[in-house]
Amino acid sequence: MEVKTINEINLNENPVLAQMATMGHEQLLFCNDEETGLKAIIAIHSTVLGPSLGGTRMWKYANEMEALNDVLRLSRGMTYKNSISNLNLGGGKAVIIGDSHTMKSEAFFRRFGKFVESLSGKYITAEDVGISPEDMGWVSKETRHVVGLPGKSGDPSPVTALGVYMGMKACAKIQFGSDSLAGKKIAVQGVGHVGEYLVKHLTNEGAEVFISDIYQQTLDRVSSTYNARVVAPQDIYDIDMDIYAPCALGATINDETLAKLKCSIIAGAANNQLRNESIHGQAVMDKGIIYAPDYAINAGGVINCFSEVHGLSSEWAHTKAEEIYQTIYNIVSRSQEEKLPTYQIANAIAEERIKAVGIIDFTK
Ligand code: NAD
Repeated sequence: MEVKTINEINLNENPVLAQMATMGHEQLLFCNDEETGLKAIIAIHSTVLGPSLGGTRMWKYANEMEALNDVLRLSRGMTYKNSISNLNLGGGKAVIIGDSHTMKSEAFFRRFGKFVESLSGKYITAEDVGISPEDMGWVSKETRHVVGLPGKSGDPSPVTALGVYMGMKACAKIQFGSDSLAGKKIAVQGVGHVGEYLVKHLTNEGAEVFISDIYQQTLDRVSSTYNARVVAPQDIYDIDMDIYAPCALGATINDETLAKLKCSIIAGAANNQLRNESIHGQAVMDKGIIYAPDYAINAGGVINCFSEVHGLSSEWAHTKAEEIYQTIYNIVSRSQEEKLPTYQIANAIAEERIKAVGIIDFTK
């Protein structure tokens, strides 16, 4: 099985339409508004399974190419995440080029909302890095194709943490023969929105939890509330642990960390955990570590968004997030049977579902 991996692209060598063809994107919308200073790109990767859904990221990109690269990669990632989660949603994403601390205003986000509206529901937006529920409230004055609004489905982090917890248990079932996490040494890197809820599940089950964060206040609160042991950020890869749960940054699975990590499972919420999908996805497998593919295990957030799109209850979202146990179990079992890295199996399952529904060429 040959699966194309999602690595860095070089737009200087490959012009935009050619790049869209290579990565299988349907549509790009470049948005410019002189009055408010809005500069944004909306990328629709696929609407085969349903309207594309993915958050809006606001970031001080160094240049347009960097923003374009990010939105193409992230929107494609959403197609895979929504597909593997069995949601009837396609993949999309938006990036706004600018400083989220100085450029925001009602007019700014209403202009952005008009651009989202112009796509007539082919793209549904939500929060991502640099965007708050209040910003989305302004967007919603111009379009109904937006989720994550104040007073609606709310903070997705508890649902994300539940999914990560269930996926971690599925990995434990395969690696240790039991899905109980009682007594297991688990290191949670980053105890922000998702990390803290995850620590709660783990300590409730009797796991021995180690935590690290760069904010002392957060660390103090979480360690005293849940009786978790604090580890300095730079020491987290060296400790004796069964499970490493990255819940802060991407790319923490790389040559340097793999030389240190002594865990037998990696299962966490962070996006893009493998610095290089093909190299480090294979390397974790070679070390006998079970890696739960990030976009499959952290899908609780998008499940929460889906519940808002369709007016479903939070009970529905929780039950759906619990199904991440079976999704991860299937991926890891198949990875062991076929002797292929888990990320490759996850990509293949996501692609199989899309192929079964519509025509999209993943062989390029
Ligand atoms: P957050 O910002 O609330 O928490 C991240 C925490 O990591 C912060 O407390 C931060 O201080 C800490 N941190 C940053 N650098 C660190 C380092 N070097 N070492 C240790 N800690 C560090 O974010 P979140 O919403 O909890 O999301 C965590 C991760 O999960 C992110 O990668 C996010 O993209 C991903 N994710 C989140 C959701 C969600 O529902 N919130 C859904 C899917 C994926």
